[in-house]
Amino acid sequence: MKVLVINCGSSSLKYQLIDSESEKVLAKGLCERIGIDGSKLTHKVPGREDYVVETPMPDHRKAVSLVFEALTDADHGVVKTVDEIGAIGHRVLHGGATITESCVVDEHVKKVIRDCFDLGPLHNPANLMGIEACEKVVPGKKNVAVFDTTFGMSLPEKAYYYAIPKEYYDKYGIRRYGFHGTSHMFVSRETIRFGKLDPKNAKVIVCHLGNGASVSASIGGKGVDTSMGLTPLEGLIMGTRSGDIDPAVVQFICNHENKTVDEVLNILNKKSGVLGLSGVSSDFRDVSKAAAEGNHMAQVALDAFRYRVAKYIGAYAAAMNGVDAIAFTAGVGENDAETRAQIVGQYLGYLGAKIDPERNQTRSEQEISADDSKVRLFVIPTNEELAICRETVRLVGEA
Ligand code: AMP
Repeated sequence: MKVLVINCGSSSLKYQLIDSESEKVLAKGLCERIGIDGSKLTHKVPGREDYVVETPMPDHRKAVSLVFEALTDADHGVVKTVDEIGAIGHRVLHGGATITESCVVDEHVKKVIRDCFDLGPLHNPANLMGIEACEKVVPGKKNVAVFDTTFGMSLPEKAYYYAIPKEYYDKYGIRRYGFHGTSHMFVSRETIRFGKLDPKNAKVIVCHLGNGASVSASIGGKGVDTSMGLTPLEGLIMGTRSGDIDPAVVQFICNHENKTVDEVLNILNKKSGVLGLSGVSSDFRDVSKAAAEGNHMAQVALDAFRYRVAKYIGAYAAAMNGVDAIAFTAGVGENDAETRAQIVGQYLGYLGAKIDPERNQTRSEQEISADDSKVRLFVIPTNEELAICRETVRLVGEA
């Protein structure tokens, strides 16, 4: 089956058409500046020149129409008609506390996505617009919603409740949801497959280290804990997010800087993390370069980032009473050998984890532990689109 995977932002739409049998990407692309002047679609087919369409896209419906036109275009397309596309898989950020699995979209699923606008104010409205645009442009085609929060739905109560009055959970659903769920699900299962680990009982810690960053613990591919919380602000130090912080800091800054809570949260989300600490950049490559050139706070930012990852690994090894494998993924996790070496070398010796320096030079799927390591270590590139494609096929069934 050919599956169209769609990831809608408020003014953008990323897509991939994937052949589910070969798991090859047949075409992919991006619609930018939807609803703004200067809208543009860039359509890429492996081995061919990029096809660029610059035309107004007042809304997501127009963007979806253009995607289908590009996919079926006589010169630049990869299918003859839309009938060749079996189903559409959508990335959706938040499914609240009621949706525990990916699902075929119906009126109830759309209502849940709408009810969660509060919990995912930047993403959920755009995700729903993408789904409704597809329903209008290609009626009758099955749409599947794959939620970033479902990985967190298997967490036990002791892991997902915050120790605040229970009425806030009852009234508003305030709990740990976790994000990057599609990536954690994909990478934990891929680690089990690639490492030939016990599919039911393997204890795996996944470190998704990108601009946004989170760690998860899973047993047999099912989430038991995850570092992001009600929102993606909790947990690791990230490119621009503070991660864990004493909530009283918010009140302190509000009082001393005469700012509102919203303003301070904006600072914690967008101006903190390695950017805020180093004052250099949110991009780890820039921060590493500055540190190598002797910038003290750039080095502190990198050290603090790695230290926080190591603390979460320690916590999750305790949470699972052991760990069989640790997998590194996303921009930093896949590409930054020094960060992996520092995390394992400085902090994980007590677990018996040992990295092999040569194997660690990889940027692709590989085991990087030394032969005598007690914990197996892997680099596993994440692939959220493929995860969404697999979920879509599982739900819709092979045509
Ligand atoms: P992501 O959010 O997964 O796309 O990851 C983006 C982050 O990965 C950026 O901060 C990049 O600086 C970082 N990154 C990409 N390549 C490297 C590399 N070779 N070394 C260090 N960081 C990298």
